[in-house]
Amino acid sequence: MTAAEPTTEPEEEESAVETARRQLERAAAHLDVDEGIVERLRHPTSVYRVTIPLERDDGTREMFTGYRAHHDSVRGPYKGGLRYHPAVNEEECVGLSMWMTWKCAVMDLPFGGAKGGVVVDPKDLSTDEKERLTRRFAEELRPVIGPMKDIPAPDMGTDPETMAWFMDAYSMQEGETTPGVVTGKPPVIGGSQGREKSPGRSVGIITAEAVDYYDWELDETTVAVQGFGSVGANAARYLDERGASIVAVSDIDGAIYDPDGLDTNDVEDHDETPGMVSGYDAPQSLTNEELLELDVDVLIPAAIGNVLTGDNARNINAEMIVEGANGPTTSTADQIFENRDIPVIPDILANAGGVTVSYFEWLQDINRRAWSLERVHEELETEMLRAWGAVCEEYERNDVTWRDAAYIVALQRIAEAHEARGLWP
Ligand code: GLU
Repeated sequence: MTAAEPTTEPEEEESAVETARRQLERAAAHLDVDEGIVERLRHPTSVYRVTIPLERDDGTREMFTGYRAHHDSVRGPYKGGLRYHPAVNEEECVGLSMWMTWKCAVMDLPFGGAKGGVVVDPKDLSTDEKERLTRRFAEELRPVIGPMKDIPAPDMGTDPETMAWFMDAYSMQEGETTPGVVTGKPPVIGGSQGREKSPGRSVGIITAEAVDYYDWELDETTVAVQGFGSVGANAARYLDERGASIVAVSDIDGAIYDPDGLDTNDVEDHDETPGMVSGYDAPQSLTNEELLELDVDVLIPAAIGNVLTGDNARNINAEMIVEGANGPTTSTADQIFENRDIPVIPDILANAGGVTVSYFEWLQDINRRAWSLERVHEELETEMLRAWGAVCEEYERNDVTWRDAAYIVALQRIAEAHEARGLWP
């Protein structure tokens, strides 16, 4: 961007926690919830900040900062991912932990909300350095995590290998193998079949339901997916297999476009081989911005947060948006989509397959019994359809946006649990 181009509008600088609070207040306005409970939910229970000393491969020492935000645990242990990204900060962790509280509640899982991460670009670390950083981070968080306290999982920049190191470090120090301390592990050490693909799969399931809700035909539906990593690629392939036409996908370097539909199994995803998406031989190349503004039926932003903003929301040509990433739509953009009657199916419902299969994994770990992939798929489908049904009911009853409807479902369950447990002392 040159200096002459306009920068983002001031209201666009809203942090994740401000967006999360605004969304909470909108939902609370539709419910008869004690104001004290809403005020409580505006704040995290605790935020832990740790310093992680790392010995680099050249023998020097470097300090990294890590966070873990605990938002609410009225319905069960804290639950949420760990992110390795240079933009990680306390406010973002708190906002993302609030979204985890709503996500678990909308899915009716017996978990609260947490999020954490390390301020680091994992691409700057060797595998050995990443392992040492993860093990020390696990040790620093050990007093505040545990299978009945707080259960981390993968998020941006972390993966099953990271979770294996994390679980091993925790287990070694505790003196007992504790698979239930994290989810998203490799299946060989207590991970669940189907966990890695589950956030993308749930985006696919919910998109198909939403398409049906509006009486469209999936095999006549065109879809653009921003971000062809774990969430985007699995959502795209799920929908492609069921007849939708995936006309555009992208990675950080750019997008590829084929109006006749791409073969999503032929395009390697960003996790398999970084840089391959934009390098794929497609009829047309686009920028990420152009992909967002394509004239398609469904747009799935599945890369990072804050990509749909006051700057581009008026130029979006999609008939419907399904959020694959966490927080891709700013409050300003949300308002514009509401005014333009473009339905936005929210992240806390659409990508909740990740934490739902995390819950299945946690159950398998506690029971020391592995489920088959078929069972995971079946139960995931059941849970997603149940949550979709609950959200549809509120959507129709209250004449609100899809996001408000999902928040109403979540907030009602959380508020009832707070009422039942009461405030002590
Ligand atoms: N990081 C994922 C999310 O944002 C999964 C969290 C989990 O499985 O605990 O939903």
